[in-house]
Amino acid sequence: MSLSVFDIFKVGIGPSSSHTVGPMNAARRFVEELAERDLLAGVVTIEADLFGSLALTGMGHATDRAVLMGLAGYRPDRVEAHQADATVRRVNDERRLTLAGEHDIEFDRATQLRLHKREVLPEHTNGMRFTARDGDASVLHQAEFYSVGGGFIVRGGQTDATPDADTRAVAPHEFDTARELLELCREQGLEIHELMHARELTWCSAQALRSRLLDIWQVMVDCVQRGFHAQGLLPGILKVRRRAPKLYRQLANQPSPQPMQVMDWVNAWALAVNEENAAGGRVVTAPTNGAAGIIPSVLHYYLQFEPGADEDGVIRFLLTAGAIAILYKKRASLSGAEMGCQGEVGVACSMAAGGLVSALHGSNAQIENAAEIGMEHNLGLTCDPVGGLVQIPCIERNAMGSVKAINAARLAMRGDGTHKVSLDQVIRTMRQTGRDMSTIYKETSEGGLAVNVPEC
Ligand code: SF4
Repeated sequence: MSLSVFDIFKVGIGPSSSHTVGPMNAARRFVEELAERDLLAGVVTIEADLFGSLALTGMGHATDRAVLMGLAGYRPDRVEAHQADATVRRVNDERRLTLAGEHDIEFDRATQLRLHKREVLPEHTNGMRFTARDGDASVLHQAEFYSVGGGFIVRGGQTDATPDADTRAVAPHEFDTARELLELCREQGLEIHELMHARELTWCSAQALRSRLLDIWQVMVDCVQRGFHAQGLLPGILKVRRRAPKLYRQLANQPSPQPMQVMDWVNAWALAVNEENAAGGRVVTAPTNGAAGIIPSVLHYYLQFEPGADEDGVIRFLLTAGAIAILYKKRASLSGAEMGCQGEVGVACSMAAGGLVSALHGSNAQIENAAEIGMEHNLGLTCDPVGGLVQIPCIERNAMGSVKAINAARLAMRGDGTHKVSLDQVIRTMRQTGRDMSTIYKETSEGGLAVNVPEC
């Protein structure tokens, strides 16, 4: 199955791609199936059961809210905050929910949205089961879904998480490993972004591709701006204060350039995005929401501080970063619940490092080298969000990942691309490390910072 760069970069809402975007998509898919089977009008009760990591950290990741929005028929890329608030308020105040925006039922979230913290469905730790019943309590329809990271969902019993896996045309230049990718580029005389460009033309025109990529970039820019101008505390029991607005004001008013100003800006851009994400704002999943700040931050750095930077460089960056994410998606996973944070912040760092080298006209070998460095020094990174919220350590971790990505790109650009550890080897190591990692460090909030930092 051919993956597109737009399977990797998707517009969604915070705070989590696996715990917010995926569950919303799954719940919406379930009510769409009810409508397709002409069952919607006969539904009297809906039950939503969440298992494993979704149950353990779902409250902090707003999974409950996301499921309600999905059942109401909303899409993560289009829903506005006021629509989400109104739907949730109606469920809380009136115990009523309108399925797919057209069929109104009673819904008691205390008894119909259930968390099974000690139970895991067989195929993945992020499991969901939806059940629709008629007036006699007979099951009209039941389905299980898995949220497998980056907003991707898989229906129980299926293997491909790509939205239109059955109908999408196969792209040329298929690759499963970095070695194959580099070999294809060598054979065709293409740079990695050119090969990705050729693949994307299977599904849209060159003009549409450019415009969609620049739209993705614009969502990132808008997110940073909102993060710079927002105020106050982030939602949740931790009462975390936003830091990006103050840092932005300090930097914008700095009278003369300071030696470490570049790093301050990189931190500010990343914090702005991840604070917006934590507040449930609109972000680009890149490749997950928890790690959404790294690529926007490194792209801002490129445009603001690299001589000769332009829109074409942004396009090269995104296409190349997309190619790198496809490797991780195919050979390992983008899910914090499967890989720990190395699968989120680690992958984003690797993508951004390779993307930056591409924007700076580095060679394919230097891109592969940068992507490898970006992951090598995130291996073993655990996922242990305090209070189950995507705030500590997540927000700051994106600032650290952005700085690391820029450094990885610089190291690679100073060499000629030859190096000892290949990107394929480091991806394989990440996968093994993720499998060996105890579940308490994989988005369960049962270990690490989550048990050593008091929640309030
Ligand atoms: S610690 Fe990393 S993987 Fe876990 S929720 Fe935060 S950003 Fe995501």
